[in-house]
Amino acid sequence: MASITLKSLTKRWGNFIGVQSFDLEIQDKEFLVLLGPSGCGKTTTMRMVAGLEEVSEGEIWIGDQMVNDLEPKDRDIAMVFQSYGLYPNMTVYENIRFPLKIRGIPKDEHHERVKRASAMVELDDFLQRRPKALSGGQRQRVALARAIVREPTVFLMDEPLSNLDAKLRVSTRAQIKNLQHELATTTIYVTHDQIEAMTLADRVVVMEKGIVQQVGTPKEIYNRPENLFVAGFMGTPAMNLIEGVLDSGTFTAKNTEINGLPNTQNGPVTLGFRAEDASLVEGRAKGQIAGPIYAFELLGDSSMVTLRTGKGMSTVKADKDFSSDIGEAISINVPASICHLFDTQTGLRID
Ligand code: ATP
Repeated sequence: MASITLKSLTKRWGNFIGVQSFDLEIQDKEFLVLLGPSGCGKTTTMRMVAGLEEVSEGEIWIGDQMVNDLEPKDRDIAMVFQSYGLYPNMTVYENIRFPLKIRGIPKDEHHERVKRASAMVELDDFLQRRPKALSGGQRQRVALARAIVREPTVFLMDEPLSNLDAKLRVSTRAQIKNLQHELATTTIYVTHDQIEAMTLADRVVVMEKGIVQQVGTPKEIYNRPENLFVAGFMGTPAMNLIEGVLDSGTFTAKNTEINGLPNTQNGPVTLGFRAEDASLVEGRAKGQIAGPIYAFELLGDSSMVTLRTGKGMSTVKADKDFSSDIGEAISINVPASICHLFDTQTGLRID
């Protein structure tokens, strides 16, 4: 069993708290993504699980063993980093084989295991090369194979794709997803890229300033963000957020009036809606947000239209054939059913 349990896991350096009271149960075979902006505590959390960072408070369990005091080498974890960490004077074959040697795995198993791991990441033809004769993507695949060959109970991956160019990132991402399907090994994967999180994760943990903001499946996090931070972080473009006032189910802000909202809380609220849920309409009517067009971007299969609405901007996904002039007055149709409401003061979702 390779479940991982974090109980009130905390990391402090003096008065600074890097990770605060993190509680989580990661299921056996689960692919868990730690997501958040730079400095939110993702890497620190992962390093504590790996045993590379001392725990200030709390407990880490792998299966039914508390591992706080176990040396990293005794935790049966394989790590993949953003910097590949390959040995330059060894061939690809030797690099992949290295963990087997240092762990004293019987020699007669090495060849078979190296071949199997390298085949999984399609490196069969490169085994005799040295790392400097490989592309970045191939090097990262060697790093993956070196983790796979160990057949560990847990994989820890820290931004493994961030040194790759955009195209390679997409193909290597698919490869990691496929590997997870084949190997079914419990994985903690750290990234600040929400697309990576959405595409790879069984569950995502969104963190900010050392504090867990939300835990859920990618769909739950995207469709039902629990607070303003998560709403603003997930999605490209991010959710449109407009500060205003809610009174008896009507939201008002500059150039904005939306009716039929829940009559649960009156006062300052922030209304959110996603670019793909709204539509553009000519003229101005109730239930709309009006404003001049600020920018128009063609994406190929669709376009993104940004309006200057009240104090800020709102972006709406439109047809690829949409055409309009910058500065032209237009409205966004925002039915109550697509709206998310947040308490502006606490940032928490209102239902
Ligand atoms: P990034 O995406 O930039 O790697 P992260 O979310 O992984 O960010 P961490 O590396 O976990 O962030 O760092 C969390 C916070 O802890 C940061 O504010 C960082 O400056 C701080 N921190 C990390 N290591 C130390 C240390 N050894 N001493 C003091 N503060 C530290």
